[in-house]
Amino acid sequence: MKRIGVLTSGGDSPGMNAAIRAVVRKAIYHGIEVYGISYGYQGLIEGDIKKMELGSVGDIIHRGGTMLYTARCEEFKTLEGQKKGIEQLKKHGIEGLVVIGGDGSYRGAQKLSEHGFPTVGVPGTIDNDIPGTDFTIGFDTALNTIIDAIDKIRDTATSHERTYVIEVMGRHAGDLALWAGLADGAETIVIPEEEHDMNLILANIKRGVERGKKHSIIIVAEGVGSGFDFGEKISAEMNVETRVTVLGHIQRGGSPTGADRVLASRLAAKAVDLLLEGKAGMTVGIQRNEIVYHSINDILDQPHKIDTDMYKLSQELSI
Ligand code: ADP
Repeated sequence: MKRIGVLTSGGDSPGMNAAIRAVVRKAIYHGIEVYGISYGYQGLIEGDIKKMELGSVGDIIHRGGTMLYTARCEEFKTLEGQKKGIEQLKKHGIEGLVVIGGDGSYRGAQKLSEHGFPTVGVPGTIDNDIPGTDFTIGFDTALNTIIDAIDKIRDTATSHERTYVIEVMGRHAGDLALWAGLADGAETIVIPEEEHDMNLILANIKRGVERGKKHSIIIVAEGVGSGFDFGEKISAEMNVETRVTVLGHIQRGGSPTGADRVLASRLAAKAVDLLLEGKAGMTVGIQRNEIVYHSINDILDQPHKIDTDMYKLSQELSI
């Protein structure tokens, strides 16, 4: 392999730049040329492809977002779109591709591999919802952004007797809510993977009030429902003032944490190694602090799981 490509696709996450940097530097270290494809699969179809040099990725390791930009591309879900993409790759002499993104982007990578184009996936999403890896790039940064926001809310919460509902990202995965809830000592964590009982949530708040707690914090993953709906239900059932905060897109931004920069560098470098070893149709991951890889087909067949012990612990500690 003499020339590879790299793109970021779907939702962006902090640390994607560190991953792009590692792909470019690791490939050039091995004497391989790298082409950057802007705007994900959309840019691939349109031929938005440029050669990258060592200096192209200078001064980006600490920046959030992605210097290659990202996009969602419906056309790439069609065979015609995928063929156009492969034509562009061939036209530019690119022989292998690193796709940095979430599970949607992995489906695109899977299609490229099925058509015989060597592709490796790198898990970049704040949701931490990709099987085969303990952590995805961006999760740690988003978690710390949420913790920072809740700490601030907690400061003002202590001055008033109120219930605070915080809605965090996670349409199908409750990892951000669970980790943030544990890290912030939330009274209640509501996530898509576990059934919730509104009566129990209300009883928790009531118990807290009775034992003199000034406030309670309830973290809701967006996949379960709107934080405002939870807030309204609580206000309707209990005589407590309720304030709702939807953290939204601030969770996607910011300078990546040290953990995310290191993870991105390790995973992206491994992706280049796999392409050079001829191991395509793979995805890289970290499990028990070891860099591993699995077939994309196997990963996409598995459901996302949360750590149920951690969920139980969060309940035990919030009594
Ligand atoms: P994420 O990668 O963050 O999960 P999306 O689910 O939006 O984000 O997927 C990103 C892009 O991946 C889509 O816009 C599309 O171009 C491509 N993609 C998603 N699903 C498929 C599929 N089944 N086949 C081919 N490409 C797909």
